[in-house]
Amino acid sequence: MFSRGKDIPKGVSRRLSLYLRRLERLKQAGRSTVSSADLASALGLRAAQVRKDLAYFGQFGSAGVGYRVEHLIPEIRKILGTDKMWPVGLIGLGNLGAALIKHNGFEQRGFRIDAIFDNNPSVVGSEVREGLTVDHVDRLAEIYRDRQLKLAILTVPPAAAQQIADVLVTAGVRGILNFAPITLAVPPSVHISNVDLAVQLEQLSFLLN
Ligand code: NAD
Repeated sequence: MFSRGKDIPKGVSRRLSLYLRRLERLKQAGRSTVSSADLASALGLRAAQVRKDLAYFGQFGSAGVGYRVEHLIPEIRKILGTDKMWPVGLIGLGNLGAALIKHNGFEQRGFRIDAIFDNNPSVVGSEVREGLTVDHVDRLAEIYRDRQLKLAILTVPPAAAQQIADVLVTAGVRGILNFAPITLAVPPSVHISNVDLAVQLEQLSFLLN
């Protein structure tokens, strides 16, 4: 029906995530249908944008009725690849890593942290939750290969991040959510998503300046 990636403009997949979040809220509130205008206005978008974004992937709505919430949620999950559970590895169980592990919202959205790595002997071997023990980072490649993990969350200091990314790439990782404030060099087949709260705060200070 569609070829993922190349033909789809940037921004569409991010908006799909926002539509999904909104649709899940509507479902919780007992709504069965939603119009593109409703969906758009809640997110500060135009209705035409919503219709265009969804039309890349198929015909999901009907005239006069709009989109059926129960139907659109699994369709968007399928498009985003979160209709299945992704096992994820986290490298660096410091302040940020520990906070992310405690967050229990990832599983609902299709991501489960299944492996944790660090090089600090006082952390390695500790049990984070039942059945999940911190492994030494020396075992990163072996465990990634054995369990065929494709995604990683990187929460190590910037000085360690590139070397760990290199190991992940050789072990077959395809996507890295990078919190370290450096630009990682990886082959084109590997996708990087950088999170930098300071950059986002700078955007706010710029707007206020
Ligand atoms: P931290 O020092 O508390 O934790 C880093 C962890 O990485 C420690 O547990 C340490 O033992 C481990 N580590 C160090 N070298 C390693 C290696 N070679 N292999 C495996 N583990 C290793 O730091 P933090 O405050 O949790 O921050 C982690 C990273 O996230 C840093 O790069 C920091 O700059 C970044 N950060 C980003 C944001 C953001 O908005 N993106 C916010 C806060 C922190």
